[in-house]
Amino acid sequence: MKAAVLHAIGEPLRIEEVPTPRPGPGQVLVKIAAAGVCHSDLHQQDGSVPPHRIPLIMGHENAGWVAGLGPGAEGLAEGDPVVVYGGWGCGQCRFCLGGQEQLCDGARWAGLGPDGGYAEYLLVPATRHLLPAGGLDLVQAAGLTDAGLSSYRAAKKALPYLSAGATAVVIGAGGLGQYGIQYLKLMTSATVIALETSPVRRQLALSLGADHAIDGSAADALDQIRELSGGQSPAAVLDFVGIDATLQLGLASLTRQGLLVLVGLAGGTVPVGFFTQASEAAVTTSTWGSRNDLAEVITLAQQGKVTATTESHRLDDINQVLERLEHGLVEGRAVIVPSTCPPR
Ligand SMILES: [Zn+2]
Ligand SMILES: [Zn+2]
Repeated sequence: MKAAVLHAIGEPLRIEEVPTPRPGPGQVLVKIAAAGVCHSDLHQQDGSVPPHRIPLIMGHENAGWVAGLGPGAEGLAEGDPVVVYGGWGCGQCRFCLGGQEQLCDGARWAGLGPDGGYAEYLLVPATRHLLPAGGLDLVQAAGLTDAGLSSYRAAKKALPYLSAGATAVVIGAGGLGQYGIQYLKLMTSATVIALETSPVRRQLALSLGADHAIDGSAADALDQIRELSGGQSPAAVLDFVGIDATLQLGLASLTRQGLLVLVGLAGGTVPVGFFTQASEAAVTTSTWGSRNDLAEVITLAQQGKVTATTESHRLDDINQVLERLEHGLVEGRAVIVPSTCPPR
């Protein structure tokens, strides 16, 4: 099969022929229809989030069709359109049993350790990692497995904090933030302020339902946030960027008993002390999402309640796509489309 392979940190991916995996007992071979290109791919490629192994086929947002079932893999048929749940845990621990496999000690992500979806086929270790896509457009579905999922979990964490009249801040209106804005508007009555440096994405944020969109890098961003929240500070901040500056701004803007949810993998930190932020403000991270979270996200997408701006590209063009993403030139989600038809 054709695949885009990372052979060395800092190098472009190499498009090459590699052996097509064969599904063993319980495993499923998926023909990839769509693989979302995520900012964390850049972190892997430049080594700031080192890949678990090299050579590696990246691509952790995958959707496609069942192309082969190993012995004992039941409940699916060849040709079924499926969405791939990305966090593959042991299946036995407390977190896995609760469907939160992404929190398993042994969790592995396709595209981070096992090979991912920048290829014609993807080997999935168990049927439980596949959810039916139904009539969903698979190009739209791919982004749901991380961008749409991680943002959903983060938004759900904020729900108990967003009572009537509250304000929520979304930092970063890229792939994840665009979903985050929609979820907050869908599930709460909060006023949503998007912080985004790109004017194009600020416009996009407004079109997706944000009440306000401001340049988070402006010197008076904190004052603007306070003013836009009607003098009351925000009760929840979702940080999809995660550099020092955004975390500091997010925490500084919170009201008492507010919540800062860190999702962005940029590696930033923020000091927390008794006197450094509003009383009883809480800080948490949010990691990926559970299988139930993904099922809920798929349902919302099937109902047409969340949408994503996507652009499709050939597998051969992956390096140009990564480059454009690095330079902030991808407005929504870029999706690699290795195949356009189900297996026959
Ligand atoms: Zn990702
Ligand atoms: Zn486990």
